[in-house]
Amino acid sequence: MSVVAVEVVYRGIFQRTLARNIVRSIVFAARKEGKIGTAFGRYGDSPERNGIPAKQFAIVADGAEELEESMAVYEAAQVDVTINVDDAMCKGVESWAWYGLQPINELTKPGGTLIVTSRQDNDSLIQDMHQRDTAYDLAVIPSIPSFSGLWVYKDDHTDVRILGTLAKVASHLVSIESMLEVIKEQWGSEEKQASAKKAYDRATVRPVEPGEGKSEERMTFTLPGWKDMEEGVVIRGIEEGGGFRGGDSGYQPVRSAVFKKFSTRSMRPVINFETCTKCTLCWLQCPDTCFDVTPDGLYDANMESCCGCGVCEAVCPVTDCVTMVSESHFNDNNSQWEAWQKDKDGYKKWMTVLVETQKKETRTHGFHHKGQYAEEIAAMGDV
Ligand code: SF4
Ligand code: SF4
Repeated sequence: MSVVAVEVVYRGIFQRTLARNIVRSIVFAARKEGKIGTAFGRYGDSPERNGIPAKQFAIVADGAEELEESMAVYEAAQVDVTINVDDAMCKGVESWAWYGLQPINELTKPGGTLIVTSRQDNDSLIQDMHQRDTAYDLAVIPSIPSFSGLWVYKDDHTDVRILGTLAKVASHLVSIESMLEVIKEQWGSEEKQASAKKAYDRATVRPVEPGEGKSEERMTFTLPGWKDMEEGVVIRGIEEGGGFRGGDSGYQPVRSAVFKKFSTRSMRPVINFETCTKCTLCWLQCPDTCFDVTPDGLYDANMESCCGCGVCEAVCPVTDCVTMVSESHFNDNNSQWEAWQKDKDGYKKWMTVLVETQKKETRTHGFHHKGQYAEEIAAMGDV
């Protein structure tokens, strides 16, 4: 080892404390082995916004000189381990700190490891992730996304399960013994130590070969050099919209061609067009102007711009007309209204299965009933 870098990709605010616990504990554990390290959040992600993908890092080195040398860059160009604490971000992430959607495995070194907390299996997760031309390993920790808030923390053992897994897949970084010692010092909990050890014992990796994954090309941009920039500060307005999909009727606002908010989403709305009363509330209340008005006066949530806040579900007065469904069930951002137009019976069956499945599953944010928080914590302890 000389320098080992770990990044934690997390949802801003909802998972901030979780990410901080992970990167800090890595450095504390490494120090027990005579190494030196530092843990920090990325400056460009501050101030954080709810759900926007953000990163924290742990950099560990054999000596101060190597550490300083590696810290002379704004952010690691490559990391040995990427930890993703919400599997919806496997589809790509767009944070405050860069321009355009970035693959989740973008910084993972060739031969490095991506650790993901997920209820999905390896193969289904790989279908969400961008292809690469170099191999890496994938380790999945069976888990629901651990969401809470800025100053609160959901103590469901996700942090220690990740630390235990990390000790297995990156034993050159830190041993399980040092990790368990740190967990005891940090939390004083034998249960948390046991969870970390269980994760260590169970951790397996699945090699991801070059070319595996989705073929979607990553977004690229030609940014102007300083000599090409316009004078003064130019903030261009977005043009006014027009007819639905360029037609004469309906309405579709013009949206930014480069800024895509959908990587903020861990759930998306699914619309029942047959029960919609065209009351307009979702269209009026959506904070991101996501709804396109279709020629028949219905409202089609545009998945390129939906951030998954759930406001449309909350304001819709018709039972089950808008249902927030976990993002893990989808592989594209296609129009639901167009799918419904093409095959109304097929759409109804697809939608019914999704809605019923979601009712049985834990929501990735928000709760179905009082006391669910406590139930989830107990359930994660058993996994
Ligand atoms: S979840 Fe609904 S209200 Fe929220 S951004 Fe998406 S379409 Fe708009
Ligand atoms: S709030 Fe519900 S009923 Fe009203 S227009 Fe939107 S989907 Fe239709």
